[in-house]
Amino acid sequence: MKFVIIGGDAAGMSAASRAKRRAPEMEITVFEKTNDVSYSACGMPYNIADPNRSIEELVVRQAHVFREKNHIDLRTGHFVEKIDRESKNITGRSIQGHTFTMEYDYLLLATGASPIIPSIEGVNQDGIVALKSLEDGRKIKDFISHKGIRKTVIIGMGYIALEMAEALRALGIQVDMVKPRPDLLPWMNREIAEIVKKELIDHKVGIHAGQKIQRIEKHEKGIFKVICSDVILEGEMILAAVGVTPNSQLGEAAGLELGPANSIAIDRHTKTSDPHIFAAGDCADAYHVVTGGKAWVPLALRANRAGWAVADNITGNHVELEGIAGTAVFKVFDLQVARSGLGMREAESSGFDPVETVIQSRSRAHAHPGASTIWVQIIGDKKSGRLLGAQLLGREGAAHRINAVAVALHQKMTVEAFSQCDLAYAPPFGPVWDPLLTAANQTLKKM
Ligand SMILES: Cc1cc2nc3c(=O)[nH]c(=O)nc-3n(C[C@H](O)[C@H](O)[C@H](O)COP(=O)(O)OP(=O)(O)OC[C@H]3O[C@@H](n4cnc5c(N)ncnc54)[C@H](O)[C@@H]3O)c2cc1C
Repeated sequence: MKFVIIGGDAAGMSAASRAKRRAPEMEITVFEKTNDVSYSACGMPYNIADPNRSIEELVVRQAHVFREKNHIDLRTGHFVEKIDRESKNITGRSIQGHTFTMEYDYLLLATGASPIIPSIEGVNQDGIVALKSLEDGRKIKDFISHKGIRKTVIIGMGYIALEMAEALRALGIQVDMVKPRPDLLPWMNREIAEIVKKELIDHKVGIHAGQKIQRIEKHEKGIFKVICSDVILEGEMILAAVGVTPNSQLGEAAGLELGPANSIAIDRHTKTSDPHIFAAGDCADAYHVVTGGKAWVPLALRANRAGWAVADNITGNHVELEGIAGTAVFKVFDLQVARSGLGMREAESSGFDPVETVIQSRSRAHAHPGASTIWVQIIGDKKSGRLLGAQLLGREGAAHRINAVAVALHQKMTVEAFSQCDLAYAPPFGPVWDPLLTAANQTLKKM
């Protein structure tokens, strides 16, 4: 059997490795357009922050190991341009300009996502960068060290933008962040978002939300000017970090059904609308465990998991994926920011009757030294009593606490059932009533 995979990172290489383990006789070919495979994109901001670390450390397994040890026919520098569903083959072009064709029994689209480049006059210039691939990370790291960058502007304020603000400040570089919409992290409870904003300002990051960006001009000595409605920001490097869009063009051109945000629609077995074609990772959609509907949430765990599921499904172990809860965590300087499930707006637009509570609790017991504040938002549905989502923020104890919420969401628990969970307690780790339980109890009073 011939299994062809397009895309050689999280989803693609997870699928290739697992399929080879489960069915060593299977012929597996992976086409990857870049020269990089199997690396941790998530580690790039932290790596960029440290000039003593090589970006190559982020490679989890080298291409030659996949070829020599795992016997996977991995072709880097191979860009797939077309899928012919009738003849069940793909065609493309190598970096050297040679065209290639290959037939498949099963095809996996693991093409990921691309950074959105905002349509601003002057955005396509050397020194205006995005961070998605390892090659982007390499370029940014080189640019910073060789050009002696002192000032930057980040367009966008999502989690990658915030992680990069921290990384650049760690290098002593001035950072201004700008975006047209007025709210920092619009999905977040406003009280909690204000704490994140204060953390950025305390670390001398300029926050310019609500600024329409008119154009980017290049001036002498490599200085860019970002001309906005009320302010002009200057930087020697501009990072565009306004989000990503799924690489679904190949699937779309082949007539596959699409899902939210133009991602490739897949069923619970990771199959697309063509029974011989699967899709996994950032290019594909998923079921949301809270709404039961489709969602597009481009994050790493689900890419790896869906890659495994594809491998299982084509090697005879039929796996159904339950879905995602949209659990995410990131760091903004000394703050841990975490979420799982729905925010208030998403809950309303999904047809729930949501109520929310935001409480402040402590990361350690009352008399225990070193405690800091933990903010918890819990959202419940008045109609069904269900727990719909949570957000956490704190200097310690927020990041992993969110996983209790994720499990509860997968189990479709009510807020009341969640409030009865036997969560752990010892003074260095929290109060007797865990902050999550206090927030759940407060939410119950409103339901
Ligand atoms: C800076 C940064 C930080 C992140 N931090 C986190 C985090 O903390 N937590 C988290 O959960 N997620 C994080 N992510 C997201 C996470 O990295 C992605 O969800 C994950 O990499 C998705 O894996 P994938 O295999 O679907 O796609 P990708 O990793 O994008 O891989 C797709 C591959 O397909 C190749 N490709 C595309 N089209 C073609 C074609 N036509 N022919 C051949 N090859 C093709 C691409 O070159 C690419 O190598 C982060 C991402 C970035 C950029």
